[in-house]
Amino acid sequence: MRPLFGLNNQQLSELLQEFSVPAYRVRQLSQAIYRHWTEGLADVTNLPKDLRERLLQAGYHIGLPSIAETYKSVDGTERYLIATGDGQTVETVWMPEGDDGETGDGSDTGYHDATICVSSQIGCAVNCQFCLTAKLGIIRNLTAGEIAGQVVAVLKRHAVQIGRDRINLVFMGMGEPFLNYDAFMDAIRLLVHQIGIAESRMTVSTCGIMPGILRFAAEPVRPKLAISLNASNDQVREQIMPITRKWDIQHLVNAVRQVPLRAKEKLTFEYVLLGGVNDQLSHADEVGKLLRRVGRPLKVNLIVWNPGPLMPYDMPPPHQVAEFQARLKFHGIPAFIRRPRGRDIYAACGQLKRTGQVRKDLPQFSLSSDVL
Ligand code: SF4
Repeated sequence: MRPLFGLNNQQLSELLQEFSVPAYRVRQLSQAIYRHWTEGLADVTNLPKDLRERLLQAGYHIGLPSIAETYKSVDGTERYLIATGDGQTVETVWMPEGDDGETGDGSDTGYHDATICVSSQIGCAVNCQFCLTAKLGIIRNLTAGEIAGQVVAVLKRHAVQIGRDRINLVFMGMGEPFLNYDAFMDAIRLLVHQIGIAESRMTVSTCGIMPGILRFAAEPVRPKLAISLNASNDQVREQIMPITRKWDIQHLVNAVRQVPLRAKEKLTFEYVLLGGVNDQLSHADEVGKLLRRVGRPLKVNLIVWNPGPLMPYDMPPPHQVAEFQARLKFHGIPAFIRRPRGRDIYAACGQLKRTGQVRKDLPQFSLSSDVL
């Protein structure tokens, strides 16, 4: 079957030309797919029956990804396994009332003020040592339709109304978006132009894929940028993020400086705190000095590492986290601790691994994070 979900208006137009129908049919089909989230061609009743049948005979279907499994956290977070139609699944997370970290100030409150964490690949090739997704390796890239389709599947489940409800999107799920750059940016354009979510409500996180950051810097329509930093120097970063051997922190800083920021926009630096590895005050001092050199409006989101099976790290104690944050603030760096979301259902940062598990082994800890 050939999915229509994921095609932009130009592509839909080229497709419908083959069926010799008037141009206004493109708009009708596009609205059915992206505004009304119609699931079956048979339900697109403003298109002639004959056209629908011919599309079906040619192998087309709408192809909106569907939620195969749902895991609900005690904190309201939901983690989904979303079926991509080829026997694979990918993980997506719904965090009601924002994530208390994307804006960084906890100001997002209220019904249907939510954040959706979206995946860009099935698995990941980057191999960050603290991340469960890395254990899958890379299985495949997602298409633009599969990336944007995760969002629509979740919006539909929660009966979200675009324009009424405040929805943030964070591209911090499984995979490295900038290693699937073209499909990722095609998905962004669909979400902005077709589905109607403002780009200012979207943030993409990268571990530091240099060519991707430089291309991103030239995009006229783009999400906000978050850099998954996680270390104060190359020595520590190489241990936990082997990608640093290819592009070190200085390269990262130089590339980030190329991204033109919009009014009031800030760069986000994400920092997963691993007990005894990168959480000492000397590290905070290094981070403070490093980020002052960036010379752009920025903030730091501190994420307490989420334990996973057979992972060789420890959670830092709460006082260490608080002192780390205070030291960054001392250096003039706005720093926020992201509160835990969905750790009991493996929905939290670095925990997305297509698992059907719900955890019963949670350590008692009152500060933690959400999704990367
Ligand atoms: S943290 Fe992100 S980039 Fe690193 S391995 Fe996990 S999914 Fe990939």
